[in-house]
Amino acid sequence: MALYEHQSLKIYNSISGEKETFEPLTEGYVGMYVCGPTVYSNVHLGNCRTFISFDLVFRYLKHLGYKVRYVRNITDAGHLENDGEEGEDRIAKKAKLMELEPMEVVQKYSVDFHQILQKFNNLPPSIEPTATGHIIEQIETIKTIIDKGLGYEVNGNVYFDVMKYNESQHYGKLSGRKIEDLISNTRELTGQSDKKNPQDFALWKKAEPQHIMRWPSPWGVGFPGWHLECTVMSSKYLGDQFDIHGGGMDLKFPHHECEIAQGHASTGKDPVNYWMHANMLTLNGKKMSKSTGNNILPRELFTGENENLSKAYTAPVVRFFMLQANYRSILDFSDEALSAAEKGFNKLMDSITTLKSIKASKTSDFDVSDWKDKCYEAMNDDFNSPILIAHLFEAVKQINLAKADQTKLTHENIDVLKQTMKDFIFDVMGLVNAENNSETKDNSNDFEELIQFLIDMRNHARLNKDFETSDKIRDKLSEMKVELKDSREGTTFQIQS
Ligand code: AMP
Ligand code: ZN
Repeated sequence: MALYEHQSLKIYNSISGEKETFEPLTEGYVGMYVCGPTVYSNVHLGNCRTFISFDLVFRYLKHLGYKVRYVRNITDAGHLENDGEEGEDRIAKKAKLMELEPMEVVQKYSVDFHQILQKFNNLPPSIEPTATGHIIEQIETIKTIIDKGLGYEVNGNVYFDVMKYNESQHYGKLSGRKIEDLISNTRELTGQSDKKNPQDFALWKKAEPQHIMRWPSPWGVGFPGWHLECTVMSSKYLGDQFDIHGGGMDLKFPHHECEIAQGHASTGKDPVNYWMHANMLTLNGKKMSKSTGNNILPRELFTGENENLSKAYTAPVVRFFMLQANYRSILDFSDEALSAAEKGFNKLMDSITTLKSIKASKTSDFDVSDWKDKCYEAMNDDFNSPILIAHLFEAVKQINLAKADQTKLTHENIDVLKQTMKDFIFDVMGLVNAENNSETKDNSNDFEELIQFLIDMRNHARLNKDFETSDKIRDKLSEMKVELKDSREGTTFQIQS
């Protein structure tokens, strides 16, 4: 029997503003979509927090026994500057700046994104679709929305008719906005653009001659609006209606609001059952953000090279620091908080080692079964990782007391503790013991030994006048930025940086 069958998981649904009992559309299966990164620069620590928050959700659902299809997109076109309706495409702008093809920019920063998330031990999603890979599907969805009378074309642009949609639906129901307020707050004046109303948003934009990311469509050459890709890719891989949609809090409006409108306009149904929003990581009290430069890059943390840091921190410690806060709370980054998290992390890891050497007693002073229930209760209460961590530290206390013969644990207790600690620390929270983590392990000696071994092989080949092999070894090492110097005393090497 899967764990979820006797666990009652509650999820805070942003659309109702309440914690609701989780009931997936199909028993035992979960469809989850999370808005991915716009790959025009290095992923910063704030972005990582959101993806770690949803990795926790993914991991816990899997732990409960659900079969989860987790779709997280890559935005590689259509996301304009300032999240607005005008301006340059972020990727195209960067491509011009770097004198690269837009797809080179996409490749460079997608690789960075994957490498960093792997360091944080995030599990890869089940499907990672791209906006540019789904242009045809986006055009088809626009046609449907126009057919339903909720989209209109003007001068090669297609807009979503928000006022028309709002006649039967509530545009603003996710973010709690009223259309009247949206109208009075908007700065754009009617008549300044092709839109019927300033609230309308682009489904398709006409490409001006200088716009390099462009595709043919029934409305002329252009590119899709930013909000559309998520509607199209979530419905393609998860269906017109699916269980969970996640993203950072800053995406609630307009991005997710527009997704609901587009989804409903094309299928007549609300696309998402549970909306989840992760809160922001701040630096000096302000949101970490790419555009303002108020951010820290993960690599700076791993090397300690940032003015806000006193030293380097490993990826598992940073992950632990983030999980110490509830995903719905703002978390402020500071060197002191990270340093405290490091101490906590080490204590937790030490307890795993201590647990292996505890002598079992015949009687017990600790109600392990009750403790285990509390760990599940914490996670079932909307993935409350800080409460889970507090319970794990209660176990750490008991483990240390038992080691000092100040409390008693039975064999059975120790087995349950070992399994439950492992489940929550490694499988659910995705932490990695620093000793096994390549991030902290110094591999340089192994590398140098390997080079020396190859030099010996090359010398052996040269002695046998097998110059083909010896040249191959030298060339390969040179490719790996290892330069060899032959002299009468022997061969030495230098690793180029
Ligand atoms: P972007 O690449 O800007 O589209 O952002 C990717 C994801 O990171 C989105 O879900 C954002 O909501 C999220 N995000 C951006 N800044 C922060 C931050 N400071 N803290 C947490 N999440 C963030
Ligand atoms: Zn999205």
